[in-house]
Amino acid sequence: MEQTHVFKTEVRQLLDLVIHSLYSKKEIFLRELISNASDAIDRAQYEGLTDKTLVEGVTEWRIDLIADKAARTLTLRDTGIGMTQAETEESLGMIARSGTKTFMQALKEKQGTNAPELIGQFGVGFYAAFMVADAVTVVTRRRGTAVDAAVRWHSTGDGTYTTDAATRDEPGTTVTLHLREGMDEYLDEWRIKALVKLYSDFIAHPVRLGKDGKDPGEADAPLNTMKALWKRSKSEVKDEDYTEFYKHLTHDSAAPLRVIPMAVEGAVEFRSLLFIPREMPFDLLHRADRKHGLNLYVRNVFIGADFDALLPEYLRFVRGVVDSSDLPLNVSREILQDDAVIRKIRSNIVGKILAALSDMKKDKPDDYKVFFKAFGRILKEGFHFDFENKAKLQELVLFHAARAEGNAPVSLRDYRDAMKSTQKEIYYLIAESLDAARQSPHLEAVLASGCDVLLLVDPIDQWVVDSLEEYEGCTLRAIDKGDLELGSDEEKAEAKKAIEAAGLALRPLLDTLQARLADRVREVRVSPRLTDSACCLVVDAQAMNATMERFMRAMNQEAPKQLRILEINPKHPLVEKLRAMREADAADPRLADYADLIFGQAQLAEGTVPADAQRFTRLVADLMAR
Ligand code: ADP
Repeated sequence: MEQTHVFKTEVRQLLDLVIHSLYSKKEIFLRELISNASDAIDRAQYEGLTDKTLVEGVTEWRIDLIADKAARTLTLRDTGIGMTQAETEESLGMIARSGTKTFMQALKEKQGTNAPELIGQFGVGFYAAFMVADAVTVVTRRRGTAVDAAVRWHSTGDGTYTTDAATRDEPGTTVTLHLREGMDEYLDEWRIKALVKLYSDFIAHPVRLGKDGKDPGEADAPLNTMKALWKRSKSEVKDEDYTEFYKHLTHDSAAPLRVIPMAVEGAVEFRSLLFIPREMPFDLLHRADRKHGLNLYVRNVFIGADFDALLPEYLRFVRGVVDSSDLPLNVSREILQDDAVIRKIRSNIVGKILAALSDMKKDKPDDYKVFFKAFGRILKEGFHFDFENKAKLQELVLFHAARAEGNAPVSLRDYRDAMKSTQKEIYYLIAESLDAARQSPHLEAVLASGCDVLLLVDPIDQWVVDSLEEYEGCTLRAIDKGDLELGSDEEKAEAKKAIEAAGLALRPLLDTLQARLADRVREVRVSPRLTDSACCLVVDAQAMNATMERFMRAMNQEAPKQLRILEINPKHPLVEKLRAMREADAADPRLADYADLIFGQAQLAEGTVPADAQRFTRLVADLMAR
């Protein structure tokens, strides 16, 4: 009996977008439907491994196309796994892909402006059919069910669909599109052939087109070469083919940034084809449940997608396939986790990806910058999780640097190569943002001495420096922590002397400030790092700076509250004024206010709001009024 159903809300929204043609390339519907047919055959083959009865009598796995000009219908028929009634309703009545809600939300927020691009990224799948069809009929029968257990699904894409019992001689799925007015090009033999060639050439099962609206027969040669791209050497494959395969794999609308073909022989044998996307894929951003990983084939049989045992998490932006004949066909995710062959494949893959990135950095520096902007943050996780590859990773990271022209990112090697002979350490500053870093008083003396400072503005950068500790014999040194000695040995000795002398001359003032701020700072001392600013706050060499403290707290982690050291610049006129004030009258009540003001200023410079902000602003106002 025919039943009418209402599409789930997100499907209605998606259909609405699809039908009102926000997506300009309508022709991709064919790619999506052939992809689905091919996936369904992959599934049938896979399930057939454990249940032979499911695939009994199958002589050829095939995808047939029939273009009926009189009826104005285009039909796709596959010998795949098929669907039960429940599966049909679930797969074609709602969107199984999680993250769809977020996706629709993102679309709404963009108010349709960037919609085509977003839709492309997400992949419209089955619903793409409605771009070219005003009615779609699906007749499907699940493998392992009876002839009369088939279902007929029908919709005009207007919010509802119907299902009804049907019969189908063979298991599999038939999708019939009744084309919209003006879409007759998709009935044209040449047009169809070209589209299959363009989008679906690598599909592993034969796609055939029947002549004059008839079923294809043995005389009709497959339109696709079916040759798995990863089985061909790079020289045999055109860039466009790689791009189309990548799009098929990822639903990305842009071409990949880098293609990495691999063929490994020896102790373990496998072939792989990996891609580095140009941008953060939508699902990596928005789908918490998205498993990272590669698609696995064992001896040509598609075993499954997203096998995370093949790829460490810090390389989760890499997409692609791995095909090995060294694995058993019945591999499961559980087996994979601690399989020796898999471990070897994985370490080969990691090595190859890191080498490819290193090549890209050398031969395509602009591409590399694009890559690093999109995925650098993820790659840096490797410092924490893949200690073995630290030496390679340290050549791959890029940072901002205070002196870099036009904000160009620099590598550790760039920094090292530009160091003066007297500079023995690599200076860095961790801050919340590039602006905050550039404004920091801590930079002053270091930059004045002619050295550059790496500005680390990713929360993960603390990990990176903790893991690195040094680069080519140069210690990584936070300029807002501990002591700071700059220049040649003589310059250091001189600076030290000058600081000691200033410390002596300012002793009474330092003591007065210290007494007033006793509960807020651990020490008040003369600074080696300031040239323009009057004061700054520093911490001990081992302690966390303010940025990291805030970051830890934002992550709900304990950040031990520790007292800072207040450093003052002996050459600053303000400091000289205070010294004179203190000398004239050690009990001058203004000294306490000034101590509070200086401390408040130093706090603001590190991005901390003074605890007693009202008092601070009142003091500033009073001072201005005077
Ligand atoms: P996706 O393929 O990305 O999951 P689609 O919207 O294209 O999204 O398809 C939704 C689901 O419908 C598929 O996951 C699959 O379960 C089912 N499906 C679509 N086409 C077929 C087909 N030809 N044979 C069997 N199942 C299909």
